[in-house]
Amino acid sequence: MQGGVLLPNAGGPGVRAAAYPAQLVAERMLADIPIRITVAQDPAVVLGKLDAQHQAYIVRSSAYTVLVVAITLLVSAGLWHQQRLHRAVARSEQENRKLIGLLEQEKGRAITLVSQDYLTGLANRRMFKELASTELKRARRSRNLYALLFFDLDRFKVVNDTLGHGVGDLLLKAVASRLKGALREYDLVARLGGDEFVALLSEIPSEEFVSRLAGKLVAELSATYRDLDGYDVETSPSVGIALYPRDGQDLDELLMHADQAMYSAKARGRGCFRFYHASLNPSGVLHSELSSRFRGAIQDDEFRLHFQPKVALATLQIVGLEALIRWEHPEHGLIFPGDFIPLAEEQGFIVPLGRWIIDAVCRQLAQWRTAGVPVVPVAVNVSARQLRDEQLAAEFTAALEKYRIPPRLIEIEITESCLIEDTRLAKSNLDSLAALGIRIALDDFGTGFSGLSRLKEFPIHTVKIDRSFIRDIRNDTNDAVIVAATIALAHNLGLNVVAEGVESKDQLVHLKAAGCDQVQGFYLHRPADGDAVSTILHKHLPALQMS
Ligand code: C2E
Ligand code: MG
Ligand code: MG
Repeated sequence: MQGGVLLPNAGGPGVRAAAYPAQLVAERMLADIPIRITVAQDPAVVLGKLDAQHQAYIVRSSAYTVLVVAITLLVSAGLWHQQRLHRAVARSEQENRKLIGLLEQEKGRAITLVSQDYLTGLANRRMFKELASTELKRARRSRNLYALLFFDLDRFKVVNDTLGHGVGDLLLKAVASRLKGALREYDLVARLGGDEFVALLSEIPSEEFVSRLAGKLVAELSATYRDLDGYDVETSPSVGIALYPRDGQDLDELLMHADQAMYSAKARGRGCFRFYHASLNPSGVLHSELSSRFRGAIQDDEFRLHFQPKVALATLQIVGLEALIRWEHPEHGLIFPGDFIPLAEEQGFIVPLGRWIIDAVCRQLAQWRTAGVPVVPVAVNVSARQLRDEQLAAEFTAALEKYRIPPRLIEIEITESCLIEDTRLAKSNLDSLAALGIRIALDDFGTGFSGLSRLKEFPIHTVKIDRSFIRDIRNDTNDAVIVAATIALAHNLGLNVVAEGVESKDQLVHLKAAGCDQVQGFYLHRPADGDAVSTILHKHLPALQMS
């Protein structure tokens, strides 16, 4: 209940408070009027509202408190749970780590087992491939030169077969340790299997360096292996070399090319090294065709002989023919000898093929003679490998007898490479052939290493100047001087001189002026088959007029 009383302005606040003890009192003295106004209100009325608010506040804050406590409890329960999980994860991680450690150890042991050659302790094929590939990837950035050497032991099978596998194993171990000892520590050496070893030499300064090193390795590996289980064993390596980046951009290509070069070293007579050369590797198709079909190709009569005339410059008459082989392949058409002769040499097919050629040349001569063709001597190209075949002279003799051909109608052409290394067998074959009455020409002269003076050791009758000197004879004074000097020197030694690859009248005139005896080349006659050549021989006319 609210109310107001007007009182005289005389008394003090103490009187007023006493008059309204249970009331809330507000007093105000008016300044000019002696009246005091007192306003009083019942506290229940004033505080009632507040009480309700207070109650609501208490309820709310209790609810909040309960909520907060509940949340806190929930969060701490969650945290506690998480902590438990963490501890479990940490424990299992620790166990995992222990397990991984064990596995790593096992893996290390397994890798050593699978990456190391059990016999020699060298890296095996797998390890070598891994390490060498990484090394070559690095090489691509650094632009360094690398050399891949492929070793195959000559006659290893004989050692194994005759002295037993125990001695064979000891030999392989000894070779491995000599190889490792002769190379630098950072060169990769591995045994690929059997008697095949490889080495990747890094950061090589030049090809000559590799050449010297390969020579040294061949010598070291060829020295007698003393006391292998009581035996002194002789062997030598055939080494093929491929250079990075020249001969291959990746490891597989380098391995393939070094392998081919190794075969070529073997064909050359073993115990030597050979660099890869692109001519060893015609198309892959031909490579596999030759390997698989070679003997079949001889039996199926797929080889053909073409003949290219040689003309005497004095008379412009045809004075000889050169037999040039071609492979008439049922699928690939006519294949030229540059694409298969090096392979045939490398893979040991050249001897049977050479036998076929000798027989085919004599057969052709016999046919011409029977047909009344005025025949001239036919030259047969004989490769280095054939010249080391002990049967060569006997094969010529047999074919000459079989077709009743006089030996003066046969010539052979050999290249300078036949006269450089291991010439003992070559010389004895050449002596036997010369003794039969077969004339011998040195083909492609000027491209090899032999000087004319060396020729005195062999029964050579003719030199054929390589066509690379004839090509620019009119423009290149060096070539002109070389040709003139070769002709003069050869004549001094009593040799006949033939120029190969004459393609123009200018060249012909120049060669005549230089005193050359015979010429051969597309300008005069292209190689042609037996029938076409017989027509030319029949006419036997001067090939052309040199006005
Ligand atoms: P080569 O004995 O020096 O034979 C000459 C080569 O030069 C032949 O190539 C011939 O066709 C080619 N030729 C001739 N005149 C010219 C000319 O004016 N210009 C040009 N650019 N080339 C000319 P072909 O028949 O391809 O024989 C290449 C090589 O293959 C021969 O060189 C020889 O080394 C070898 N070869 C050929 N036939 C036989 C063979 O029956 N047995 C053996 N072992 N090797 C052979
Ligand atoms: Mg020739
Ligand atoms: Mg030639």
